[in-house]
Amino acid sequence: MDQGNQLFTLALGLVPPWMVDEVRFAAEKRLDLHVNFPKGSRFPCPICGHECPVHDTQEKVWRHLDFFQHAAYLHARVPRVECPEHGVHLVPVPWAREGSGFTLLFEALVMAMVREMPVLTVARLMRETDQRLWRVIDHYTAKARESVDMSKIHAIGVDETSSRRGHDYISLFVDLEAKRLLFATPGKDAKTFEKFAKDLQAHGGNAETITEVSMDLSPAFQKGAAEHLPNAQITFDRFHLMKLINEAVDAVRKGEAHSQPDLKKSRWLWLKNPGKLSAKQTARLQELLKNQNLKTAQAYQLRLTFQEIFTIQNRH
Ligand SMILES: [Zn+2]
Repeated sequence: MDQGNQLFTLALGLVPPWMVDEVRFAAEKRLDLHVNFPKGSRFPCPICGHECPVHDTQEKVWRHLDFFQHAAYLHARVPRVECPEHGVHLVPVPWAREGSGFTLLFEALVMAMVREMPVLTVARLMRETDQRLWRVIDHYTAKARESVDMSKIHAIGVDETSSRRGHDYISLFVDLEAKRLLFATPGKDAKTFEKFAKDLQAHGGNAETITEVSMDLSPAFQKGAAEHLPNAQITFDRFHLMKLINEAVDAVRKGEAHSQPDLKKSRWLWLKNPGKLSAKQTARLQELLKNQNLKTAQAYQLRLTFQEIFTIQNRH
């Protein structure tokens, strides 16, 4: 074997009968590696493993990891073997999974990168379309989800988020004990609970064993939980309750600001937690709180009391 070819055979981790038999650098920063096998090679039948003669071959190409700045492509004639028992079958190649246009190493790099940055960014860096990368991601995430065990789930949290500002809502179901995402689905209606219950069942879980649900005050979510999680006790979570309370405090301040000019530009004094205020802000807040008639101050005290309740509970 040519020494250059041998080097690439080693670099690709190929084992006999596979070997690189041609290496071509193209002007447009492209490297084409042709993988081949010697005439007369035999390959195992993918069903029984019996060593069989090659029936014919199919030309295939895979994008591989770049060699420096060259986009590398692997080319191979993939044999179909003829097994006396099982007939003609395409042989799996060790460097790629069936049906993929990428090598396993390329896919591994894609999967590592998409954990750290948006898919579109990865696609640009790798000079691929994001659609092609999404197919890889879909394959591995679906495969990983198959083995997820939901049989011991008791407490879940549900929340909605939008993937674009104000559009395309998705609902997320998380395991509050293991702190992991269990299920995500488009929409924010009661039906999302039906879909979750189905997915739960498909992963060894049971809607009846869910005893706690923490979520916001959406009527759709309450309806969904009541219909599909029959034994679940609903808790409105602190974050969403505090949001409502802050909105109420702010509404009181707005209503009072006309008659109480002292309240001008005081919005954040009432909404921020006392510990987060600067010394100057704290002093001003203390001054405002001295005015016993201020409705905003009363609302603020209610807010602090409410927050205190959570703190007490959290001590247990
Ligand atoms: Zn066979």
